[in-house]
Amino acid sequence: MQAVSHPPANADEILHNVPRVDGVVPMYVGGAWRLAADGATRDVCNPANGLAIATVAEGGAADAEAAILAARRAFDDGPWGTMSAADRAALLFKLADAIDAHREEFMRIDTLNNGKPLRETEYDAVDAANCFRYYAGLATKPHGQTFDVPAPSQTFTVREPIGVCGQIVPWNYPLLMAVWKLAPALAAGNVCVLKPSELTPLSTIRLAALFEELEFPAGVVNVVLGPGATVGHTLAASALVDKIAFTGGTKTGRSIMHDATSNLKKISLELGGKSPNVVFADADFDTAVDYALFGIFANAGQVCSAGSRLILQRSLHDRFVERLVERAQKIRVGDGFDPQTEMGPIISPVHRERVESYIRAGEEEGAQLLCGGNRLGGPLASGNFIAPTIFDDTSPGMRIVQEEIFGPVLVVQTFDDEAQAVALANDTVYGLAGAVFTNDIAKAHRVIRKMRAGITWINTYHPTYNEAPWGGYKQSGIGRELGTYGYDAYTEVKQINVNLDVAPSGWFGQ
Ligand code: NAD
Repeated sequence: MQAVSHPPANADEILHNVPRVDGVVPMYVGGAWRLAADGATRDVCNPANGLAIATVAEGGAADAEAAILAARRAFDDGPWGTMSAADRAALLFKLADAIDAHREEFMRIDTLNNGKPLRETEYDAVDAANCFRYYAGLATKPHGQTFDVPAPSQTFTVREPIGVCGQIVPWNYPLLMAVWKLAPALAAGNVCVLKPSELTPLSTIRLAALFEELEFPAGVVNVVLGPGATVGHTLAASALVDKIAFTGGTKTGRSIMHDATSNLKKISLELGGKSPNVVFADADFDTAVDYALFGIFANAGQVCSAGSRLILQRSLHDRFVERLVERAQKIRVGDGFDPQTEMGPIISPVHRERVESYIRAGEEEGAQLLCGGNRLGGPLASGNFIAPTIFDDTSPGMRIVQEEIFGPVLVVQTFDDEAQAVALANDTVYGLAGAVFTNDIAKAHRVIRKMRAGITWINTYHPTYNEAPWGGYKQSGIGRELGTYGYDAYTEVKQINVNLDVAPSGWFGQ
């Protein structure tokens, strides 16, 4: 591991186009910029050095209610839901182009606020524009079905928007997680009240300014800032919200599901994971080592689908682990603005302490720490940096094997045969993602089909496509985002029956 130091990024210059009201980054509600009803604010920080970079409005329940009412009016009385799909799509294509035109700015805002290296935020910004493009295209494609029924009836379905959608997202992909929610919802004709993480609201507010510039109708997109316990809870519990879509931790997902029972609103949950990466002895060695590193250390392990459990065939174990540790120790850790940086910081001091407590738990439970495990000092001491960490000699019952750490901590498990590999892979409450590395194509398919996970890879790790569904089995979530599945999740299906033989039926009172 090599520490990369860098002078602090110039926050004022990077955030130049982020809207302000009285010097505070505001919320976007009903087409207007507003501060919190009670005037509360919060400082948001750069996790690479702990410095405050902006003061943002800290909304509360009253602000969430105002945004819900604005959205309700926009859906019930505004033009969005009845606008032709082609017109909605045209606006969404323009938005995609606007994100591309401001790509560098979005990259820099998210690197400043989240800490991840520029090469990662570049991927996020490119993908964000393409996600809008994908759903703009999908808006005008056929969505219904026709049915051959026994009666003289023309029977068919149409997909209609659900209505007001509450959307709550985490901090690990600030721009991209917001876009994954907004793009399908808007394409299908819904209106949105989005709450970004309180730690990383800046790129979402910059995005809201693009919606304003492009003259999306007022109230179609609303962004409320503030804590989950007040703003998030209000969105999930409100009887005026028709759907709640959430990405975040499994514990929070459970509470949102409970809140959503108030009016039995539609619900989508994208939750945590502890995903297995199974490597057989016959795999391409260098490829498997490479993706094992990418699977866990991309975004400093703060990825829901991270390959946080490396499940190695015993005959391969020693050679594989040796190379893995050698390469992990070469990872350049530092400020995401330095082009040399390969891994950035943990999002906050609170989360860093959480990750450290897992590292301590691993040591106490008797796992062998092969590398890392420490906070970085020297020029990185003011940031939330943790060295790439690998544990070996684990057993399935350990907390570091079962619980989501959401940091740069890999645990190695060892297997002898295929059945044991599958059993270990499925042995957590999660089922988000998983991968297998082998040159035996039949074995690859057998193992993948037995894996209880929603997103799987063979001989690769992490590629994610706007075109393909994203979501988890078991306690990793409910429903799917992206692809046509993600679009369908923002629609109601209406059955329409047209009587082709218009005559009295004579059933009653003849
Ligand atoms: P979190 O659950 O703490 O917070 C996520 C969002 O929910 C934030 O906006 C937060 O303010 C809000 N929130 C918190 N408590 C709430 C409540 N009681 N009611 C309503 N909203 C509430 O998660 P986090 O720490 O921000 O993100 C990390 C988690 O997100 C990890 O578990 C990770 O696996 C998960 N995640 C999942 C996916 C996926 O696609 N499955 C993607 C990214 C992250």
